Amino acid sequence: MSVTAALLRDLHRCHRQLADLRERHERGPKQIRAHEANVKRLEDELAKVKAESLAARKSVDTKQLTLRSKEDKIASLNVKLSGCSTNREYQALLEQISADKVAMSVLEDEILDALGKVDDSQAHVAKAQEHLGKGKEEAVKVRASVDSQRSFIEADIARVDAELKAFEVDLPADFRDGYDRVVRSKGDDALAEVEGDCCGGCYQQLTPNMLSHLKSAVAVACKSCGRMLYFPE
Ligand SMILES: [Zn+2]
Repeated sequence: MSVTAALLRDLHRCHRQLADLRERHERGPKQIRAHEANVKRLEDELAKVKAESLAARKSVDTKQLTLRSKEDKIASLNVKLSGCSTNREYQALLEQISADKVAMSVLEDEILDALGKVDDSQAHVAKAQEHLGKGKEEAVKVRASVDSQRSFIEADIARVDAELKAFEVDLPADFRDGYDRVVRSKGDDALAEVEGDCCGGCYQQLTPNMLSHLKSAVAVACKSCGRMLYFPE
């Protein structure tokens, strides 16, 4: 099983480049999905603050209606007051009017407060609309960028894959089985450079026997992690 370090280095480089390119190829759609999810979240946020704004407006309208009915009630009590025949009835009407005026004053304060909430909620709606606009813009940009890069990445994958296959054609048959197996299980971690006298993948120390095999271009796999070993340039 004679395989040169140069060939193993090339194989490893191709596997790493392919892994990197495939990762980039998969990252694009993930980025698009993340931005789409963000837009959805911003749409939900806008719907929520719009509903809150509507509720705040409704609360003001209800209070204003109540205020008007109290005004009407006081007006009719005043009419009754002018046609009043007994002092007792007169006093009772005066008390009623006074109590209603207090209630109106409380209601007026509440309306002022509620109008402040309407203003706040409208500001929240404007901000949420702005955030959504920016989020949508960003999502369009990311999609365009991913779309434009996709064909380049796919061309690179095809090129490196062809390069890898060309290198693999030269592999001796007795090496090929073990190599295919470790590539299937470890992908771009199927090979490792020797670092000092250790496996560069798992840092297990290699025996002098393994090192001497490697020096004479005999394929050696790390006994600890199974990576195919090769010497650096
Ligand atoms: Zn190892």
